[in-house]
Amino acid sequence: MQKLREQVNNCNKCLLGSMRINPVFGEGNSSAKVMFVGEAPGANEDATGKPFCGKAGKVLDELLLIAGLTREKIFICNVLKCRPPKNRNPQNLEIEACTPYLNCQINFIKPAIICCLGNFATAYIMNKFNIKSKIQGISKIHGTIFIAEAFYGKIKIIPLFHPAVLTYDSRKKPILDLDFQQLKYVPR
Ligand code: SF4
Ligand code: URA
Repeated sequence: MQKLREQVNNCNKCLLGSMRINPVFGEGNSSAKVMFVGEAPGANEDATGKPFCGKAGKVLDELLLIAGLTREKIFICNVLKCRPPKNRNPQNLEIEACTPYLNCQINFIKPAIICCLGNFATAYIMNKFNIKSKIQGISKIHGTIFIAEAFYGKIKIIPLFHPAVLTYDSRKKPILDLDFQQLKYVPR
């Protein structure tokens, strides 16, 4: 993992490399049963190098509490390791360039559950594990448990709303609460 972290620190495989202050490798337990994958660093993450340390991160911490989880138990990272300008959506070329790092993280950690935060993480992970219902967006499939085959055995993929959604649509709070409550009882 340390080697991989150094590779990310020195990465310039896409243009985001020249715009970042800090790459955000991800952090947490490297033998975590539950892995969370977000979209990309925002301004706070870019400034500190830490994943989900801003507003969305605060929301996520509250949701983790509902799931009976803490940052120490999980591993948390993003599809992209560098911040897109003005937090725009990740572009296909950037996702292609960056996801080998995410794949290595998954292969090293071997999580039993991958929680995908938002549409970009969901689309990437569902596609990677050959789950065919990806035409549907997160509003339709959030909270669904998909079973897939990883090289180390069965893995559960759970798409969830991105916690940042609550910073502009607080009506979704009960939905997120329920999905994270369910997560507490999913066998790992
Ligand atoms: Fe490298 Fe990923 Fe950063 Fe692009 S976003 S420079 S591929 S680490
Ligand atoms: N949003 C994300 O998707 N990832 C972060 O690390 C922070 C905000």
